[in-house]
Amino acid sequence: MSREDLTKIILPEDKVPKFWYNVQADMPNPLAPGLHPGTKQPLGPADLAPLFAMGLIAQEVSTERYIEIPPEVRELYKKWRPSPLFRAHGLEKALDTPCRIYYKYEGVSPVGSHKLNSALPQAFYNKIEGIKRLTTETGAGQWGTALSLACKFFDLECMVYMVRVSYDQKPYRRMVMGVYGGQCVPSPSNLTESGRAELARNPNTPGTLAMAISEAVEDAAKREDTHYSLGSVLNHVCLHQTIIGQEVKMQMEMVDDYPDIVIGACGGGSNFAGIALPFIPDKMAGKKIRLVAVEPAACPTLTRGVFAYDFGDVAGFTPLLKMYTLGHDFTPAGIHAGGLRYHGDSPLVSQLYHDGLFEATSVMQNGVFEAAMLFAQTEGILPAPESSHAIRAAIDEALKGKEEGISKSIVFNLSGHGHLDLNAYDNYLSGQMEDVAPSDEQIQASLKNLPSA
Ligand SMILES: *Cc1c(COP(=O)(O)O)cnc(C)c1O
Repeated sequence: MSREDLTKIILPEDKVPKFWYNVQADMPNPLAPGLHPGTKQPLGPADLAPLFAMGLIAQEVSTERYIEIPPEVRELYKKWRPSPLFRAHGLEKALDTPCRIYYKYEGVSPVGSHKLNSALPQAFYNKIEGIKRLTTETGAGQWGTALSLACKFFDLECMVYMVRVSYDQKPYRRMVMGVYGGQCVPSPSNLTESGRAELARNPNTPGTLAMAISEAVEDAAKREDTHYSLGSVLNHVCLHQTIIGQEVKMQMEMVDDYPDIVIGACGGGSNFAGIALPFIPDKMAGKKIRLVAVEPAACPTLTRGVFAYDFGDVAGFTPLLKMYTLGHDFTPAGIHAGGLRYHGDSPLVSQLYHDGLFEATSVMQNGVFEAAMLFAQTEGILPAPESSHAIRAAIDEALKGKEEGISKSIVFNLSGHGHLDLNAYDNYLSGQMEDVAPSDEQIQASLKNLPSA
């Protein structure tokens, strides 16, 4: 059988990785340390202990190349892993491109996105350290859904602060959280001091991820039995997601192919990191491979932000992280890809971007949905608005290949399905979607409030 015949490339179950890949072992320049928000001194494990399980803190700072996936987590991964890698024959034909397009489909997870890859180990490490309850933030609701289910599996309570614009735009996800036993409130809420302060300042705010993080951190800091959990950005989250890229490498080998370009949508950076990081050693060894992060023009962190220390949240409760940022009080327009509305980016992704190992591009909303429509009509899968940013970039690369007459191998991460994002599609189909990007003045204004480090 030639690789041209294959549509669905499935890894044998016994090949599912037993280790996560830790890029901190291989980076040309190490990460700048996180800083304490008060003292501005480098953080130690003790500073993080009130919020995170020690097992996760150890992973955050580890430089070991491979970290074992606990058997309890591997057992649960089996519910949907290995996820399929598809050859996009239908899309290729519609584009009339000589390029080979593949997509790794993480929407087959029970919650419909890649987020469960990290929610499960986060719940697991907290459970074995005696924690009873986790708090978190969520944008579009994908992370809150994943953590609600993971907490249920490990018998923990789950409290989710959901960005208000998404809470209103995407009512079904909060219902799913309810089904899984999670509690979900719109953020800013009146349950926390930071939420009440924001409501007093700005009663009609659409909310931001940075605001919801402040509330979730404040809630967790107030209770002994509670820890905080973050769905992206941090090193341990990117680590957990590397199961994606490790599987992709083996699946590409099964069809005797190797990617010229690997693409992922980039919000906090975890699904992009997940598919791209396992290719970093190859790239550093001289392989010609491009790793491309795609962000919304409405929240252009890598493409228009600065590489600087900033808070992860609005209120300044989180450690200062060195990352690409638009400023922690930057409020992106209420685009439909709620999961990409974050002012900052993973320090790992940021450092590797800074060192030239990653590329970044930004795309407008209408182009994203045009790509999503073509993908749905040729491949049959209705993609999440976030994932559709990667589809847009993959299509653009395939069209460029056609123009140049070059057959490239393009792989992108289809991080989730969009079955609960139908009002976004409705908005597009009725011609009401707006293309928005911040002005330079807007970005400069929020960058003025960067903390001094
Ligand atoms: C959350 C989410 C994203 C963006 O988050 P990252 O941490 O950048 O991956 C992308 N796609 C889907 C489907 C999501 O749920």
